[in-house]
Amino acid sequence: MTNRSVLVVEDEENLVEALRYNLEHEGYDVLTAPDGGSGLETARAALPDLVILDVMLPNLDGIEVCRILRRETDVPILMLTAKGEEIDRVVGLEIGADDYVTKPFSMRELMARVRAMLRRPRKTASARMAEPLRSGSLAVDVDAHQASLNGEELRLKPREFDLLALFMRNPGRAFTRDQILEQLWGHDYIGDVRTVDVHVRWLREKIEADPSTPARIITIRGVGYRFEG
Ligand code: CA
Repeated sequence: MTNRSVLVVEDEENLVEALRYNLEHEGYDVLTAPDGGSGLETARAALPDLVILDVMLPNLDGIEVCRILRRETDVPILMLTAKGEEIDRVVGLEIGADDYVTKPFSMRELMARVRAMLRRPRKTASARMAEPLRSGSLAVDVDAHQASLNGEELRLKPREFDLLALFMRNPGRAFTRDQILEQLWGHDYIGDVRTVDVHVRWLREKIEADPSTPARIITIRGVGYRFEG
């Protein structure tokens, strides 16, 4: 049987070496990457069994790496957050990380988490996607392409549906109009960010109790939108 492999994405050399030593001692093969971009490349090329991912990384931070990896694979991701990074901690789980530890951590604790994560049966990406998203009386089933409010089916246009699913996957996260445009229409869309405003308005008319004073999709002046749930 081949060893399980763990990819460590971290720029602090001392920590990388300490992790390598302990992981190898437990019988894992260890791969390392010193920044977000190379971490992503290594994960794609080597398909490790687990990724240990630091939040603070050069060129592409751990949050972005996690978000991208989660779209592509169901590899378990353990995030390392610095003390006091409360927001990062929450975001780390919201963006699809499986677990996190706060620095400084004990190697014993970290190894216990790694063992536990590798014991869990892996969800396939399609099973993960098939889970209905819920927020109070709102529900979105991405697989069935159905959305409902108070148990009644919502009639949404495709982009409205995608927008609602994006918000419900990321409650509490602020999105700029450009980010929404890129997520829903893609990089090569030649268009206006006002397209986003129009779709938000349409969606509000369908999911807000009072669309003129929205409680679910909040406008963040000068930035974009945040889904409150
Ligand atoms: Ca770091």
